Amino acid sequence: MNSETQYERLRVEVADWMRTHLTGEFACLKYRGGPGDEEAYPALRKQWERELAHGGWTGLGWPTGEGGRAFTVAQQVIFHEEYARAGGPGRMGHIGEGLLGPTLIACGSEDQRKRFLPGILNGTQFWCQGYSEPGAGSDLANIRTRAVRDDHGSWRVSGQKVWTSLAHDSDWIFVVARTDPDSRGNRGLSFLLLPLDQPGVEIRPIRQMNGGAEFNEVFFDGALAASDDLVGAPGDGWRIAMTLLGFERGMSTLGQQMQFIRELDWVIDAAHEAGVAHDAVIRQRIARAWVGLRVMRYNALRMLAGADGANQANAGAGGTLGREALIYKYYWSNWHRELGQLAMDVLGPNANLLAADDAKRSRLQGVFLFSRADTIYAGTNEIQLNIMAERGLGMPKEPRGTL
Ligand SMILES: Cc1cc2nc3c(=O)[nH]c(=O)nc-3n(C[C@H](O)[C@H](O)[C@H](O)COP(=O)(O)OP(=O)(O)OC[C@H]3O[C@@H](n4cnc5c(N)ncnc54)[C@H](O)[C@@H]3O)c2cc1C
Repeated sequence: MNSETQYERLRVEVADWMRTHLTGEFACLKYRGGPGDEEAYPALRKQWERELAHGGWTGLGWPTGEGGRAFTVAQQVIFHEEYARAGGPGRMGHIGEGLLGPTLIACGSEDQRKRFLPGILNGTQFWCQGYSEPGAGSDLANIRTRAVRDDHGSWRVSGQKVWTSLAHDSDWIFVVARTDPDSRGNRGLSFLLLPLDQPGVEIRPIRQMNGGAEFNEVFFDGALAASDDLVGAPGDGWRIAMTLLGFERGMSTLGQQMQFIRELDWVIDAAHEAGVAHDAVIRQRIARAWVGLRVMRYNALRMLAGADGANQANAGAGGTLGREALIYKYYWSNWHRELGQLAMDVLGPNANLLAADDAKRSRLQGVFLFSRADTIYAGTNEIQLNIMAERGLGMPKEPRGTL
């Protein structure tokens, strides 16, 4: 069977599976739980993760030896496209499956892989990411959370993380903490895994401007990380943290684009309904948004094709990507932010009215409000431009403060 037929079969298989499983008790999850809607049905979305696992649809890019399916990039693209096309809900397990799992596969001990990968794969253990702190966002190396060894060899963690997405719905957190008290900058940091349900951990929600509270402050006061739950060696934290961030750009971006297509359709519908479909400027902006989507898709395919050749095992989570990958986050996040603004301009003065009784207006307002965050998380605009200049174009590194 040639690969085109194989791919077509997979496409049909995923579409069929989604049609027959995203029904009944899961029907209400259709199109829910995406960015800005993370608080929708968390318990049911966790159950959906288990449903996906039963169907064999988790760990697609992971190696088979680690419980994955070793799908090629092309196969994963097909899955994510069909998943999004069918209205598959935002994934509760994406931090575990997309970030921590591949990091443990790359850097974890055999014992850690045995203990943590199955729970991630079967949808019973949920993770959040404890990197950012009040003084350490773009400048992540400025981390102040510290961990000290107690008499039993375990680590006691104290400090504060912030903007921790879904901490309130997670079982475990991975944190980067300073284990060498005399160190500065990116030296002397370690990568630790901690259960959240323990004394010494307090999670406080942060209310966002769209009304939701998907992220949190997380306070640690002598919280315990077992000695076996340090990934790599003490002091290795920066390397491991950066390995994990390398997995952040990846396959699910193709699914995200399906959502963007849907959102652009909503904007087009709204333009008709609001009577502005004849407005020359609105029409041009809509057409430009559509062009942007096409460019985004081809760029993503080019970037992911590079990953396939370079490193099959890592490709699933965006392991080894070429220069094209440097453009990608900047491009999609700014495109999406402009779409949010376009949606508001299409709605006109009504955009400013609370839309509790108008689901269509409410979802466009949601796109606008949440898309403001797109150019902040996973690297702000300015940081992305720095990365492109320095890593992509060989410009001199920007001056940093002395450490
Ligand atoms: C929706 C959302 C979810 C998030 N989820 C998580 C999560 O789950 N876990 C987690 O750890 N973090 C999370 N974050 C935090 C995110 O990673 C940080 O917000 C981001 O890294 C920016 O850091 P900061 O907020 O401290 O801003 P700062 O780093 O203080 O930046 C402030 C401004 O200064 C600019 N700036 C900073 N440094 C430079 C420079 N060198 N050159 C030029 N300009 C610069 C920035 O571009 C920005 O405009 C999330 C953020 C958002 C918005």
